[in-house]
Amino acid sequence: MEENMEGMMMNMPLRISSILEFAKTSYPEVEIISKMSSGEVHRTNYRDISIRSKKMANALLELKVSLGDRVATIAWNSYRHFELYFAISGIGAVCHTINPRLSSEQLVYIINHAEDKVIFLDLSFIKLIEAHLDQISPHIKFVLMCEPSEVPDSNLPNVICYEDLINSGSEDLVWPVFPEDTASGLCYTSGTTGKPKGVLYSNRSTVLHALLASVTLPDSFAVGRKILPIVPLFHANAWGIPYSAPLTGSSLVFPGQSLDGKSIYQLLDQFEVFSAWGVPTVWFGLLDEIKHKGVKPKGLGEMIVGGSAAPRSLISEFEKMGVTVVHAWGMTETSPLASTGRLTIPYTALPEDQKIDLKMKQGRKVFGVDLKIVDDEGNELPQDGENVGNLFVRGNTIAKGYFNNEDASKAAIDKDGWFETGDVASIDKEGFLTLTDRSKDLIKSGGEWISSIDLENCIMNHPEVENCAVIAVPHEKWYERPLLIVVPKAGCMPESKNLLEYLEGSFAKWQLPDGVVYEEELPFTATGKVSKLSLRKKYEDFNFKKGKNIK
Ligand code: ADP
Repeated sequence: MEENMEGMMMNMPLRISSILEFAKTSYPEVEIISKMSSGEVHRTNYRDISIRSKKMANALLELKVSLGDRVATIAWNSYRHFELYFAISGIGAVCHTINPRLSSEQLVYIINHAEDKVIFLDLSFIKLIEAHLDQISPHIKFVLMCEPSEVPDSNLPNVICYEDLINSGSEDLVWPVFPEDTASGLCYTSGTTGKPKGVLYSNRSTVLHALLASVTLPDSFAVGRKILPIVPLFHANAWGIPYSAPLTGSSLVFPGQSLDGKSIYQLLDQFEVFSAWGVPTVWFGLLDEIKHKGVKPKGLGEMIVGGSAAPRSLISEFEKMGVTVVHAWGMTETSPLASTGRLTIPYTALPEDQKIDLKMKQGRKVFGVDLKIVDDEGNELPQDGENVGNLFVRGNTIAKGYFNNEDASKAAIDKDGWFETGDVASIDKEGFLTLTDRSKDLIKSGGEWISSIDLENCIMNHPEVENCAVIAVPHEKWYERPLLIVVPKAGCMPESKNLLEYLEGSFAKWQLPDGVVYEEELPFTATGKVSKLSLRKKYEDFNFKKGKNIK
């Protein structure tokens, strides 16, 4: 066998800290603007963020945070949350971003499963944690993300003020060097059944993702322009912006807590943001506000839409205003960017209508991500735009399993090492991906997941319920909302209000079904499973008008 000849190039481990170091030297003055909960606008830049991250890193080392320790955040998008991304991962600890919109049960599970040592908290989430103190470790340290004068009274143990902590750390730090596979971030995503599953990113996967995202997602001429990440920092790394913006010298505007159309319009307009990123629900809100004002926000040039399918009306209305819409697809498990719909030559020359047709697809894969579609037996299908199959992905930015979860890890990866997305899709000859359905039993509402199976398992314990199914019904604003279909036990007729009350303790309010309908029996597939497909067809036009369906 011939011997492989090695190239004569240096090999330095890829590290997240180098991203911020780069921005500090190349783009020191580029601004990071944050809308704070108080309404104030805070301004800083990459130089100061770098200094503060080092101070925080030193302070965390003083708190005995070491390699591999999980340090959590429960926070809105702000400069503090941004600098934590670097302070935590930079010292080889794991930045565990927690989604505060999850149900209490899921929140407690995640904190315990991750074994968080420190939790950074925005003040608005103190109550959320206080309610569950008896269910989590008493040793966790809580850092309140505020000034010393803003620290409120609370029942939290081991409380530290963020600004006190940062000021206790020296800015003198050489970021440690460790192998590039060292874990850097942890983000839990909804499991179809049971518990959320943790995706554990590495320094290597994160830096590679930052590189590929910065060349494919925002306009590559966006250097120095402003980006508004409405997608939360607790949602799949805010689609990678915290890492790709410093690489491209893009300025960031963090929106804080208010994400309604009016607040977003005001931010975009005031700071003349060029590129804004978020789920379709957010853009519908903005569209209403633009219609109300009669003019688009100053400077808005492009919108990155993902998380759920961008409808035609949304794309075409923004395109008509001169805003380029880029539709992207990905998952927490794919870092998340896996495909993007920015049109290139020759598609840019197509008539408007045909361009919108293409933009409604989920785009083409990004470099480094392989896609395949397979039938139910695992046979690979042709990528001809006709065949539809289960979508699998592979690449350096794709999860190969879940944190401390052997069963879920095994179930996710096929025998050839591909990750099963749970999406159903076709891929055409020019590489455009079109998602047609979802095999995972989940409902996506406003960019967040609801597990149908969890709702079903809970309601099945109700004494008057014989059988049930929860399905996704298309919804104009939220994309999908859950509908509960109940087969009552003989002689029973449980009131819908009563059924919903039954679910209340175990689910967040927004996860509860918007409607309840009754059936004598449920349809079944050939293999004896409830046929969600036929139920979804039957109820696709279901009208959730309040009061009409809830007795
Ligand atoms: P995120 O919501 O940040 O994309 P999640 O891991 O919560 O990440 O959800 C990923 C799933 O969301 C995908 O598997 C797919 O079902 C759905 N999804 C994401 N982007 C799109 C899109 N552009 N069109 C349709 N569905 C999408």
